[in-house]
Amino acid sequence: MIIPRPTLYRDAALADPTGSSLRKGVSLLADADRIVWIRPSADEGDLPPDVHVIDAGGSTIVPGMVDAHSHVTLPGGSHWIDRGADPPDELLEVAEHNGDLLGRAGVRWARDVGSPLAVDPRDGRRHALALRVRERWQSDPNRPRIRVAGTWISHSGVIPGGLLIEADDGPALLKAASTQLDDGADFLKLYLDGPKKEEAPWSTDDVRAVVELAHGRGAKVTAHSGFLVGARVGIDAGVDSLEHGFELDSDTVAQMARQGTFLVSTLAIFRSWASFAQTTTLPRFVSDEGKERIIHRRERAIESVQLAHRAGVRIATGTDFGGGSLRANHLAWEVESLVEAGLKPSEALASATVRGGELLGEPEAGRLVEGGPADFFLVHGDPLTDPTALWRVWRVAWLP
Ligand SMILES: [Zn+2]
Repeated sequence: MIIPRPTLYRDAALADPTGSSLRKGVSLLADADRIVWIRPSADEGDLPPDVHVIDAGGSTIVPGMVDAHSHVTLPGGSHWIDRGADPPDELLEVAEHNGDLLGRAGVRWARDVGSPLAVDPRDGRRHALALRVRERWQSDPNRPRIRVAGTWISHSGVIPGGLLIEADDGPALLKAASTQLDDGADFLKLYLDGPKKEEAPWSTDDVRAVVELAHGRGAKVTAHSGFLVGARVGIDAGVDSLEHGFELDSDTVAQMARQGTFLVSTLAIFRSWASFAQTTTLPRFVSDEGKERIIHRRERAIESVQLAHRAGVRIATGTDFGGGSLRANHLAWEVESLVEAGLKPSEALASATVRGGELLGEPEAGRLVEGGPADFFLVHGDPLTDPTALWRVWRVAWLP
């Protein structure tokens, strides 16, 4: 067994997403997975006798990121929908691979917003698979810290495959919500796109009853929102966050800002789909009509994020890996997308760190403070002015 020693990272830069410029010439002492102190390298003071010194010159310390929209049991890629039907044992292996990818990309926290139902051999009942992943990872300090939603709750006729709970009216919706919380879900995920694009799947009162149930049991409710009509129902019903929010307007974002509703952006999905025009033969990505549709949806989604940002809505950042086509080590792509949408690089990094922590209700997530967890990674470049620096990971403090 390796006995952990205090570790000093010397002469790094430090990117604090709540500030706007890098701190240079910084030394950081970590011990037993906590940050002991952060001091100027020129004035470190006394060091522990057994300290391990890492020359971090030329690199930048960045807080571990939060992927606020992920699906840890699914691999992503251009066949992402088909992969949901893979056998549970394979999906559990996929989750371990994703755990590696997340960590190596500097992602400390993953918020799992939906996993397939699968029979648990231990009790013969069908539970959301990510609950088992959470249990496995809880005791492993090298794995991402996760919070999981259980499975998706959707109206019938929306998502194929029988991997989730379908609820077609208010009582069924409330029962589905209660089942997920009984199974141990940390929060609930409702799918607010209905079988018809122009109609929400449930009434505002139906959704409000779920929000009241969840809040009464200390859990939050989030909602997938591809279209405006579903977004309106979710916001009126008081959900805590909207995922994607691809079609928001000025009224909905104003109400979100008033209520403190988070938006979890997933704009990089469209960049990924655009890349499939070059790398796949799938008509929906390759055909002129398909490309046209993607460009149109992407422009509307960027506009939604711009409206939300200007209205003061708190924005957290997600890849949608697994439930969409990105992979688990692609969160930097979303930070780049937020900058394209008009956020300053420092604001986009804050979305991928502290805002994600606020959404999770985890005040230590995405922050670097003395006494706090040593959850940081080191990159080359300045992510407060250049989001592409986040791709250039050199090392990750919580991994060997
Ligand atoms: Zn998703």
